[in-house]
Amino acid sequence: MHKRKKGLVIAIDGPSGAGKSTIARLLARRLGYTYIDTGAMYRAIGWNAKQEGVDPSDEPALQRLCSRTDVTIRHDPGLQRVLVNGREVTGEIRTPEMGMLASAVSRSPAVRARLLTLQRGLGASGGVVMDGRDIGTVVFPGADVKFYLDASAEERGRRRWQELKEKGMDVDQAVITEEIRTRDLQDSSRALAPLKRAPDACYVDSSAMTIEEVVAAMLSVCAEKDPR
Ligand code: C5P
Repeated sequence: MHKRKKGLVIAIDGPSGAGKSTIARLLARRLGYTYIDTGAMYRAIGWNAKQEGVDPSDEPALQRLCSRTDVTIRHDPGLQRVLVNGREVTGEIRTPEMGMLASAVSRSPAVRARLLTLQRGLGASGGVVMDGRDIGTVVFPGADVKFYLDASAEERGRRRWQELKEKGMDVDQAVITEEIRTRDLQDSSRALAPLKRAPDACYVDSSAMTIEEVVAAMLSVCAEKDPR
């Protein structure tokens, strides 16, 4: 176990659109921790695969791509910025297309090994809220607190559609919901680090909860672990 000086390692896993990033960001702010969005790292590799015309199912090509792709994470207050080989892609990777591409490249052992090292490095000294699909199962199986955040597929589709609409994207709710279902099936059925609930994760179904209610519930679980 790492010596954690800055606080707890809090892992939040769950399917797409469950509210992980919104909740994780708020939780991190309340605790004075750093929020680490690991999905953005897979999106960054997916973005670069597209940029360089690499087929996400071609493992040797992805392996070569990884060796020439530098993913850098920077933290500004309230914002995680992502750079690929020095170029900022923070905004560009937030599209449904990049979500699907991220899911496609995330099956690759080379990609996962590469990002695992980066993620473990970022969380090693603690004081982090990290969200993704395999944080409590693979990245930090010894995390101090683990959550599995869920919601019904319809509710997740509605939330993701709302979010994209607010960003000015013209998207169809039924199409977004279908995409979310496809991505979740892909993520939970892959051989390597599939999306699943860690046995010791606290299960939270946010379908009928407000953001504030979810954050409050999680904060009280964290307080039990770290009463400081
Ligand atoms: O969370 P987000 O929707 O940005 O993640 C994009 C994709 O990246 C997911 O659908 C999943 O395939 C992949 N991912 C992963 N492991 C993580 C985080 C994301 O495989 N820890």
